[in-house]
Amino acid sequence: MNTNNKQVITRFAPSPTGYLHLGAYRTAIYAYLFARKNNGSFVLRIEDTDKERSKKEYEDDIIESLKWLGLDYDKFYRQSEHLDSHNKYLIKMIEDGSAYISKEEAKDGSGVIKEIIRFKNPNIIVKFHDEIKGEVAMNTTDLGDFVIAKNLEEPLFHLAVVVDDFEAGVTHVIRGEDHVSNTPRQILIQRAIGAPTPIYAHLPLVLGPDKLKLSKRRGALKVLAYRDMGFLPEAILNGTAFVGWNPGTDQEVFTRDELIKDFDLSRVQKSPAVFNEEKLNWFNKEHMKLLPMEIIKNEIGKRIINYQLSISNEQLLKLTPIIFDRISKWGDVDEMIKSGELDWVYKDPSYSKDDLIWKKLKDNPEKYQITQSYLVEVEKRFESVSEADFSEESAKKAIWDFAEEKGRGDVLWPLRYALSGREKSPDPFILVDVLGKNETLKRIKNAIKILT
Ligand code: GLU
Repeated sequence: MNTNNKQVITRFAPSPTGYLHLGAYRTAIYAYLFARKNNGSFVLRIEDTDKERSKKEYEDDIIESLKWLGLDYDKFYRQSEHLDSHNKYLIKMIEDGSAYISKEEAKDGSGVIKEIIRFKNPNIIVKFHDEIKGEVAMNTTDLGDFVIAKNLEEPLFHLAVVVDDFEAGVTHVIRGEDHVSNTPRQILIQRAIGAPTPIYAHLPLVLGPDKLKLSKRRGALKVLAYRDMGFLPEAILNGTAFVGWNPGTDQEVFTRDELIKDFDLSRVQKSPAVFNEEKLNWFNKEHMKLLPMEIIKNEIGKRIINYQLSISNEQLLKLTPIIFDRISKWGDVDEMIKSGELDWVYKDPSYSKDDLIWKKLKDNPEKYQITQSYLVEVEKRFESVSEADFSEESAKKAIWDFAEEKGRGDVLWPLRYALSGREKSPDPFILVDVLGKNETLKRIKNAIKILT
């Protein structure tokens, strides 16, 4: 793209009137990636001119979210800090006739006469090039002399955006498609104040899985909710960048630096993009796989410690790959703990006699004695393995031929149930390995007793 050899300056200009969802942050991500790719700068402007609806907590949330996503900006300001500039341009426009003060009756029916500032519309067709939509032309005649400020101290949206972009030297306005219809008005104001027209890129809508516009009302979450669920910021960055953009290759997993290198506005799709929550889980798992095992162990361990579970460090090491296999974000560890999936590690299992019986033996009148005799044999064989050698492999080796002879389910089912007390669990040799020799034998003995 021709950037006229000027330093690229992009901006993210959210209004702090609510929590923003990922659809909004996608705009920030594209503006950020584009700036970084071009060694340009990225500006965060909080558009807080709507005093009633703007709230500090929303501003804080935007700042915190950008920080979490790693979208660092080179300049930060609030639109409300620029009122002097807005005022200066309003006066200038009134002086040169491109705007005028109009005395009008307030719309509330009170009969009060108010002064507002209107733009003197030249009533022309405004054409501009959009990097995504192509050539856009709009007849501005229908807009009439639109209002640009409530008074000299209270500019409205279009004027404030144009003045602020001009003063910040914004070269590329990357924003949502909902602003396309605002662009002709803003271009008219640019021309009136002698500001250059930046390059525009209006991004396609982001739809939810229901193919309706992604919105908080229909369940779209704020970004920090993903942090709280234990997603990795790199994964959210990657997954969100892929909502409506792709690099044109098969590669889907991108680090931040790779995104900066490969991002290109020309590959942003023109049609609405669908946001898929499931796919975010996939991105997250892929990014988790890129982490060193030590970090994975610590993250899982941190959660286990939170619940004050009595799990030794050695057990944690063994459990890490087992847990990692079953999660796609750190919060899934909490789910596993809460649902009891890990109870077997640190709690004596509780179950009934019948739970220990393999389904094929259910109708056998001797089922308890038979199952008991299998467990007695397993116990004996495990006893003969020294504690130092006791492991997944040695335990398997000790009983595998016996299980093959009697039927794998007949032997391994009661063993697994005796150790886990659960319908579903990792395979019995993994359980044995994590529990260690003493605990394993204790649980087998207990099952033998229950079967008596
Ligand atoms: N403040 C506007 C919004 O939150 C964005 C304005 C712009 O990007 O030009 O939708």
